[in-house]
Amino acid sequence: MAETRKKQAPAVKKKIPQRRCVGCQGTFDKRDLIRVVRSPEGQISLDFTGKKSGRGAYLCFNEACFKKAKKSGILARALECEISPEIYDALEHEIRAAQPAEE
Ligand SMILES: [Zn+2]
Repeated sequence: MAETRKKQAPAVKKKIPQRRCVGCQGTFDKRDLIRVVRSPEGQISLDFTGKKSGRGAYLCFNEACFKKAKKSGILARALECEISPEIYDALEHEIRAAQPAEE
Protein backbone atom coordinates (compact mmCIF):
# COMPACT_ATOMS: atom_id res chain seq x y z
CA MET A 1 0.00 0.00 0.00
CA ALA A 2 1.75 3.09 -1.19
CA GLU A 3 1.02 6.09 0.87
CA THR A 4 2.28 8.55 -1.64
CA ARG A 5 -0.13 11.36 -1.54
CA LYS A 6 0.86 13.34 -4.55
CA LYS A 7 -0.99 16.51 -4.01
CA GLN A 8 -3.92 17.87 -2.17
CA ALA A 9 -6.81 18.55 -4.46
CA PRO A 10 -6.51 22.15 -5.49
CA ALA A 11 -9.34 24.24 -4.18
CA VAL A 12 -10.49 25.41 -7.54
CA LYS A 13 -13.79 23.68 -7.87
CA LYS A 14 -16.59 24.32 -5.51
CA LYS A 15 -16.42 21.57 -3.00
CA ILE A 16 -19.50 20.37 -1.29
CA PRO A 17 -18.93 20.33 2.41
CA GLN A 18 -19.00 16.92 3.99
CA ARG A 19 -20.97 16.26 7.09
CA ARG A 20 -21.50 13.27 9.25
CA CYS A 21 -24.79 11.57 9.82
CA VAL A 22 -25.48 11.14 13.51
CA GLY A 23 -27.14 7.82 12.77
CA CYS A 24 -24.71 5.79 10.68
CA GLN A 25 -21.66 8.02 11.20
CA GLY A 26 -21.28 8.04 7.46
CA THR A 27 -19.93 11.10 5.73
CA PHE A 28 -22.07 12.63 3.04
CA ASP A 29 -22.33 15.70 0.94
CA LYS A 30 -24.07 18.29 2.99
CA ARG A 31 -26.88 18.45 0.48
CA ASP A 32 -27.58 14.76 0.96
CA LEU A 33 -28.30 15.25 4.61
CA ILE A 34 -31.06 16.80 6.57
CA ARG A 35 -29.89 19.43 8.93
CA VAL A 36 -31.60 19.75 12.23
CA VAL A 37 -30.72 22.97 13.90
CA ARG A 38 -31.13 24.35 17.34
CA SER A 39 -31.39 28.08 17.21
CA PRO A 40 -29.71 30.28 19.78
CA GLU A 41 -33.16 30.56 21.35
CA GLY A 42 -33.31 26.82 21.78
CA GLN A 43 -35.82 26.24 19.02
CA ILE A 44 -35.38 23.02 17.08
CA SER A 45 -36.22 23.06 13.41
CA LEU A 46 -35.34 21.41 10.14
CA ASP A 47 -33.07 23.46 7.99
CA PHE A 48 -33.33 22.93 4.28
CA THR A 49 -31.18 25.88 3.36
CA GLY A 50 -28.21 25.08 5.54
CA LYS A 51 -28.15 28.70 6.48
CA LYS A 52 -29.96 28.79 9.75
CA SER A 53 -27.77 29.78 12.57
CA GLY A 54 -27.36 27.62 15.57
CA ARG A 55 -26.03 24.25 16.46
CA GLY A 56 -26.71 21.70 13.79
CA ALA A 57 -26.85 17.95 13.54
CA TYR A 58 -27.14 15.97 10.35
CA LEU A 59 -29.10 12.94 9.39
CA CYS A 60 -28.93 11.11 6.09
CA PHE A 61 -32.02 10.01 4.21
CA ASN A 62 -31.88 6.53 5.57
CA GLU A 63 -34.87 5.51 7.59
CA ALA A 64 -32.72 3.30 9.74
CA CYS A 65 -30.68 6.28 10.79
CA PHE A 66 -33.77 8.23 11.64
CA LYS A 67 -35.11 5.40 13.73
CA LYS A 68 -31.82 4.99 15.46
CA ALA A 69 -31.54 8.69 16.12
CA LYS A 70 -35.01 8.78 17.55
CA LYS A 71 -34.76 5.65 19.60
CA SER A 72 -31.36 6.20 21.07
CA GLY A 73 -31.65 9.93 21.42
CA ILE A 74 -28.41 10.60 19.58
CA LEU A 75 -29.99 13.51 17.79
CA ALA A 76 -31.03 15.05 21.06
CA ARG A 77 -27.57 14.43 22.41
CA ALA A 78 -25.91 15.96 19.39
CA LEU A 79 -28.00 19.07 19.82
CA GLU A 80 -27.89 18.95 23.59
CA CYS A 81 -31.57 19.55 23.60
CA GLU A 82 -34.86 17.71 23.79
CA ILE A 83 -36.39 16.93 20.42
CA SER A 84 -40.14 17.21 20.34
CA PRO A 85 -42.28 14.53 18.68
CA GLU A 86 -43.31 17.12 16.11
CA ILE A 87 -39.73 17.46 14.97
CA TYR A 88 -39.35 13.72 14.70
CA ASP A 89 -42.58 13.56 12.75
CA ALA A 90 -41.38 16.22 10.37
CA LEU A 91 -38.08 14.46 9.95
CA GLU A 92 -39.72 11.15 9.30
CA HIS A 93 -41.97 12.78 6.76
CA GLU A 94 -39.01 14.29 4.93
CA ILE A 95 -37.09 11.05 4.92
CA ARG A 96 -40.08 9.07 3.75
CA ALA A 97 -40.77 11.58 1.01
CA ALA A 98 -37.20 11.26 -0.19
CA GLN A 99 -37.31 7.51 -0.54
CA PRO A 100 -37.48 6.20 -4.08
CA ALA A 101 -40.79 4.53 -4.73
CA GLU A 102 -40.17 0.81 -4.63
CA GLU A 103 -43.15 -1.29 -5.47
ZN1 LIG B 1 -27.05 7.84 8.23
